[in-house]
Amino acid sequence: MTTLDTLIKNARIIAADGETQGSVGIKDGIIVDIYAPGEEPEATETMDASGLALLPGAIDMHSHHREGSEPGFEYKDTIYTSTQQCAAGGVTTSVAMPNVTPPPNSLDLLKKQFAVYEKDAVVDWNFNPAPTILDEVPAMSKEGIAAFKFFMVVDTGRNYPHMPGIGVHDHGKILEIMKACAAVNVPLMVHPHDQALMDSIEQEFWDRGERDALAYARAYAAYDGVIWETAIATLLRLQQAAGCHLHILHTQTAGSVQLIREAKARGQKVTCEINPWALFLGNDWSAIERLGSYALSYWVPEVNTPGLWEGLNDGTIDIVATDHAPHLAEEKEVGWTDGWKAHTGTPSTQFYLSMFLTAALEGKISLERVVEACSTAPARIFGIEKKGELKPGNFADLVLVDLETKYEIADEDVLSLTGWSPYAGRELTGKPVTTMVRGKVVYKDGKVVGERGFGQQAIASHA
Ligand SMILES: [Zn+2]
Repeated sequence: MTTLDTLIKNARIIAADGETQGSVGIKDGIIVDIYAPGEEPEATETMDASGLALLPGAIDMHSHHREGSEPGFEYKDTIYTSTQQCAAGGVTTSVAMPNVTPPPNSLDLLKKQFAVYEKDAVVDWNFNPAPTILDEVPAMSKEGIAAFKFFMVVDTGRNYPHMPGIGVHDHGKILEIMKACAAVNVPLMVHPHDQALMDSIEQEFWDRGERDALAYARAYAAYDGVIWETAIATLLRLQQAAGCHLHILHTQTAGSVQLIREAKARGQKVTCEINPWALFLGNDWSAIERLGSYALSYWVPEVNTPGLWEGLNDGTIDIVATDHAPHLAEEKEVGWTDGWKAHTGTPSTQFYLSMFLTAALEGKISLERVVEACSTAPARIFGIEKKGELKPGNFADLVLVDLETKYEIADEDVLSLTGWSPYAGRELTGKPVTTMVRGKVVYKDGKVVGERGFGQQAIASHA
């Protein structure tokens, strides 16, 4: 028998379908086997994991890395800094969204974007291009991508993060895009939003002279989430017409969960995500009052919280994805006077796995379901090869976490260029101790040790 490269010994291994005590053997970046206590073979290096939990590395299907193939928004976060945060947060694969400069919506631009990752990524990656140029969809679909993505939103009062060129709210155009995605059998991610309703609702606020972050929060949540639910109902009906795999982003109202639950019961090919801010930040009005735009992504009125947890626990909400969206403090500070000028979105890559593990220890969700929603289901739904599960033949993408020791999030620990977290001051458990990508340690004992450019594209295939 060949000697293993690495043996991770005596770990509490948590999988989507249960947990075991055992050791993981790794050779050439691949998991060889999982061994019962006493049956471990020899290894060049042995890591003692006693007292730690071992999880498959998180696969984040929705991140904003900011850096494009030309200068634009890399001052907020670069691919290097984003993927360092991933390593520190237990994320071994990070999949990014197309609102970078220039937005990749053609094969040429997609390849240029890939080149930046190849040079700079610390963990594995993929990228969801925009399918807004229909003729480019077939060629982009052959590049191992996990999904296409567009926004139904067009920003008013600012031109970022929802930049021109990747926003579509014309229903006819949406149907054409869905048909193009169905033809190449690649999932389509959509940020749901009813622009016509938003134009009207925000005008009501502006007419009353209400423009600050709190008004912005209330406008997006107006009429119990009508801008979200109307858009989701439209998307679900168009999906029936086009037959594509529709993946709905930012699930945040209990009504949305119910719409998706009913569509799934009808057999529709639909999946969805929830973002950490919907459960740990935007659903706390006192946090929004205290932090203003720094806490917005969106306000998720607390009445929705039980329905969101229920949807995540029963699988109606398929996956957890971050919607990691870093912005400079000054881009948030303006929100105290004009919430529409503040760039929307909140950073979370470095801490979300810990937040969900903490929620599991509090009894809101099981550890197994956290693993499934953060790792196993994303790999299965998006066809990401050899990831999402600790089993023989898969890549050794994993994270060792300490489920015992409490730690507090501090702004100075944030590895992003922005230097702040809306979660600062929170006490969590489930801190990643060691993160490994394809058998190589990229984070250990509080330090990112992975090298720039080590990350590879996490190839997706759609059978
Ligand atoms: Zn997003």
